[in-house]
Amino acid sequence: MNSGQCIFCRIVKGEIPAEKVYEDDHALAFLDILPRSPGHVMVIPKTHAKTFLDLPENLIGPFFLAAQKVLGMLKKALAPDGFTLGINHGKVSGQEVDHLHLHIMPRWRGDGGHPLQSVISNPPSEELRIIADRIRGAQ
Ligand code: 5GP
Ligand code: ZN
Repeated sequence: MNSGQCIFCRIVKGEIPAEKVYEDDHALAFLDILPRSPGHVMVIPKTHAKTFLDLPENLIGPFFLAAQKVLGMLKKALAPDGFTLGINHGKVSGQEVDHLHLHIMPRWRGDGGHPLQSVISNPPSEELRIIADRIRGAQ
């Protein structure tokens, strides 16, 4: 997708309104329009990158630094008991917006939610060592 048509690039440029909660030179954080919990925020790099793999190396540090800052702000502002952080990478995983975004969802005891691993239950038939060997071989 052309970054000119990207909805999150348009939020960065101020062409589409959003409840922005944090901004620096490289990253922006704003409330998800369909929040799954109070304070559900997305942190995005200002540079268009479809997935984490597409984000230039020099922008990875600033992206995670912004994520950590936002996490601290959410903790101070809303006092949740914990957080779920996650990235949908690719259509099959549920990525709807093709601009890298880290979801941060504040969590409270008894909120009825589940751990991140509950999104998939497709355990491998191979031994762990076989898979680990394949991954190590790809370094
Ligand atoms: P994905 O499924 O791609 O990981 O998540 C995309 C998220 O972006 C969804 O949770 C959706 O609610 C949110 N979203 C989509 N369009 C907009 C928008 O225009 N403004 C805001 N604030 N959030 C959006
Ligand atoms: Zn974009």
